[in-house]
Amino acid sequence: MTQLVTRFAPSPTGHLHLGHAFSALTVWRAAQEAAGRFVLRIEDIDRTRCKPEFEAAIYEDLRWLELDWETPVRRQSDHFADYAAALASLQEKGLVYRCFKTRKEILDEIARAPHLSPQGPEGPAYVGAPLPEIEEQALVDEGAAYAWRLSMAAAKDCLGEQWDALSFTEETPEGSRTMKATPEIFGDAVIARKDNGTSYHLASVHDDALQGVTHVIRGEDLYHAAHLHRLLQVLLGYPEPIYRHHRLLTDEKGRRLAKRDKAATLKAIRESGAEAGDVFARLGFSVS
Ligand code: GLU
Repeated sequence: MTQLVTRFAPSPTGHLHLGHAFSALTVWRAAQEAAGRFVLRIEDIDRTRCKPEFEAAIYEDLRWLELDWETPVRRQSDHFADYAAALASLQEKGLVYRCFKTRKEILDEIARAPHLSPQGPEGPAYVGAPLPEIEEQALVDEGAAYAWRLSMAAAKDCLGEQWDALSFTEETPEGSRTMKATPEIFGDAVIARKDNGTSYHLASVHDDALQGVTHVIRGEDLYHAAHLHRLLQVLLGYPEPIYRHHRLLTDEKGRRLAKRDKAATLKAIRESGAEAGDVFARLGFSVS
């Protein structure tokens, strides 16, 4: 049997809070229970929001929780060339196109023709088309900024019958389920952003494949992303991981914890004199 490899992949955009601790411990425990490997990955492609001090704080917080991980830790911002190569393979297959539109233009277009927009996990999604070659070249020559979007129509053509059979495995406490993947809910998803030439989706599926991740264990806020990730894995020839999306921790009002909730940060909890064991107990994990 192949060894379970799973990962915790935080973005250093703020201090980790109890919700992250819950996620990290869920991933960690899954690795331990299966005598598998726990991989830590720093997802810092967003160069404006990610800060080195938050990366340092991630290590400090996780060490305080007595987790350990393999080194060197993969830091995505050191590997933009890898994501560019993955993008190039989609470009060669004619699966992506340049989109020069601003956010506002996209929203206006969706508002004008809502019937053309699939309902995505975050509202109506955009479906566009590449510009005629001459127009596109003129904009490129002018230095206009563009994102790369995945053409769902081209992806569907490329996969043929395989498109309808696209699925992923979701493991739940009640058992394993095969879920039909419907990546079209994302419309023509942005696969490489204007500012950094990649996206969470591309970098994440690339790294999961590179790092041999067999089980993607993460919060259920990312459940829908699996639909798109599964498509990218097939298009890029990456192996298929198993998914487990765990519940999200909420505050007493039922709201999701966020990095802005200062009191719930592990740093604040630690500085208040609490022990790692208190956090384990509060999150329902036994201390081993
Ligand atoms: N970097 C993402 C986050 O912090 C997690 C991505 C993932 O687990 O796939 O929300």
